[in-house]
Amino acid sequence: MPDSLHPLLARQLRKLELSAAATPASQAFGLLLAHVSRAYADFDQERYLLDRSQDIASSEMAVLNTALRESQAQLSSLLSLSSDWIWEQDTQGRFTFVSQELEVRSDVKVDALMGQACGVDGPLRVGAEEFLSLRDSVARRRRFYHVNFQVESASGAVQQMSISGEPLFVDGVFAGYRGVGSDVTVAVAAARRIEELARFDGLTGLVNRNMFMEELSRTLVRSERYDRRFALFFIDLDRFKLVNDNLGHLAGDALLKTIGLRLKKLLRDADLLARLGGDEFVVLSEGCCDPGALAKIASRLLSAIREPMDLDGRRIEISASVGIAVYPDNGGDALGLMQAADAAMYQAKGRGKNTFEFFTLELAQRAARHFALEGELRLAADRGQLQLHYQPKVEASTGALIGMEALLRWNHPVRGLLAPGVFVELAEESGLIVPIGRWVLHEACAQMMRWQAEGRAPVRCAVNISVRQIAGDSLLADVQSALRSSGLDPALLEVEVTESMLMADPRQAEVVLDELAALGIHVSIDDFGTGHSSLAYLKKFPVRTLKIDRSFVMDLPGDHENLAIARAVIAMGHSLGMDIVAEGVETNEQYDCLVNLGCDVLQGYLFGRPVAADTMAQWLGDSDGFRRLHARHPWALSGFVDCA
Ligand code: C2E
Ligand code: MG
Ligand code: MG
Repeated sequence: MPDSLHPLLARQLRKLELSAAATPASQAFGLLLAHVSRAYADFDQERYLLDRSQDIASSEMAVLNTALRESQAQLSSLLSLSSDWIWEQDTQGRFTFVSQELEVRSDVKVDALMGQACGVDGPLRVGAEEFLSLRDSVARRRRFYHVNFQVESASGAVQQMSISGEPLFVDGVFAGYRGVGSDVTVAVAAARRIEELARFDGLTGLVNRNMFMEELSRTLVRSERYDRRFALFFIDLDRFKLVNDNLGHLAGDALLKTIGLRLKKLLRDADLLARLGGDEFVVLSEGCCDPGALAKIASRLLSAIREPMDLDGRRIEISASVGIAVYPDNGGDALGLMQAADAAMYQAKGRGKNTFEFFTLELAQRAARHFALEGELRLAADRGQLQLHYQPKVEASTGALIGMEALLRWNHPVRGLLAPGVFVELAEESGLIVPIGRWVLHEACAQMMRWQAEGRAPVRCAVNISVRQIAGDSLLADVQSALRSSGLDPALLEVEVTESMLMADPRQAEVVLDELAALGIHVSIDDFGTGHSSLAYLKKFPVRTLKIDRSFVMDLPGDHENLAIARAVIAMGHSLGMDIVAEGVETNEQYDCLVNLGCDVLQGYLFGRPVAADTMAQWLGDSDGFRRLHARHPWALSGFVDCA
């Protein structure tokens, strides 16, 4: 019997009430017990070693864990400075880990991502193209950057996330991806808004000019390929400026929005409606292009616009003019078609507004003529083809030549002497009127000084100013420079501004005219009675003279309405301390009548047509001779037709 059995074995023997002494084959049994006891001891030893190694392992693990926690804490604190979160994905692209920063940085829960993979559909949605590129990166085990996916937030709102990742290898075997992610919801929304602003009109939400032109080009390509036609409707509101000026810009904006909505409602989904800017809209319609159908659409557009609307508690009615151009009949490219529709729209405006007009061959020819004329006009000043003619203004009571108006002429090498009616509008449209107007100012001032130098009696000379000059920013400087370089007394210079020009932008006109008046220049309103101005406005302008428009003088004294208008204008002008000039006086009867009504100054063929400078020089030098030209009209107030 061994001396010391393994305690566990000894206990088991005691339980069995066995003792080494009690057994017959005690020696063999003792040997067996000794073996078993040693096996127990060996087992103890192994377990001890195992436990020991486990202890070591777990303490090492604890150290490693602490280190990991520390590094994660460091990473977290770094992440807290950024908008990012970290993640891991398995080999199938499913999120296996997402850091808590996701929940801090966005409204999305970690659970919304865990176990999910990005896909074209499913809870983590990626755009089709982006998905293909992601799949390609993963297949090649390459890094990917800024892959955007959509996911729902806890509240159900769609959020935009962006992830960048690198492949993960364990012992050289691909184990998935890990990387960073960020919430880009705000950035994506901002980018979309920027894109929208670049393509849509902020006020009406309609397509803007840029996008319309792109769409028009695409439609052109399609139409050419499939041999199809389409129509453009160019819509321009009539007198929209008056709404803006009288009711303010907010009301103007509200009006444009309403018109946009009405047009949208009226058109088919397939029609493209855009706002080109200001009060211009355009419709691209790929439907039927026969003139009858197009006319019907245009009339419907016009009546939708004409419906009265409430603006600021006021009932407003506005009309529009519409120009129609058809592809390919009226143009083969985007610009040509737009120009054709625009030209047709202008034609409609010219025909009295609230109407539509088709682009025609005649319009095309006129446009071509305009184009050629514009090119020639550009060179006219440099080639010395511009001239000023001067028309006398006479004092009603004495017949004395007391002033003149400088009127522009173009001595065209082929077409001869052209009146402004042929080219001034073109000069205004093209902006050429600004340099031409500058030339007119310089030439008129210089001519006055040449006459003074020749000893002619100084009289005031009026120069016509265009709306473009009023709207631009060089008029004051141009006038100052003309006065300075000629040395003319500002009191001898007069500017004539038409009434409609003042009403186009009354505030701007007021500023400009105040500046001119401050220089000592005489300001007159031309073509008075045609521009719908109000007395309230008139009082604001530093105006010294009203020129009654020729259309009111024409039928005097027979036309009672014109007579009443002429009488009212004279009374009103005088009450505001202004002089009254009557334009276009051609007959003795008109002359008599106007003198009788109290008109101060007269201008017209009866006293003298616009003449070249040398003729005017003779008249200036011989005032009696000038009066003798009108000897048939004794400058005495006797024998007049009684109009008063
Ligand atoms: P406006 O300023 O009202 O000039 C008067 C126009 O009436 C002139 O036409 C003149 O020749 C014409 N006229 C004068 N008396 C009579 C008459 O008794 N009977 C008839 N039938 N006509 C008469 P014109 O020279 O053809 O000028 C037309 C318009 O062109 C001018 O109208 C003015 O608005 C514009 N214009 C002329 N010169 C210039 C210029 O230098 N710059 C600008 N911006 N416009 C100009
Ligand atoms: Mg004039
Ligand atoms: Mg006039």
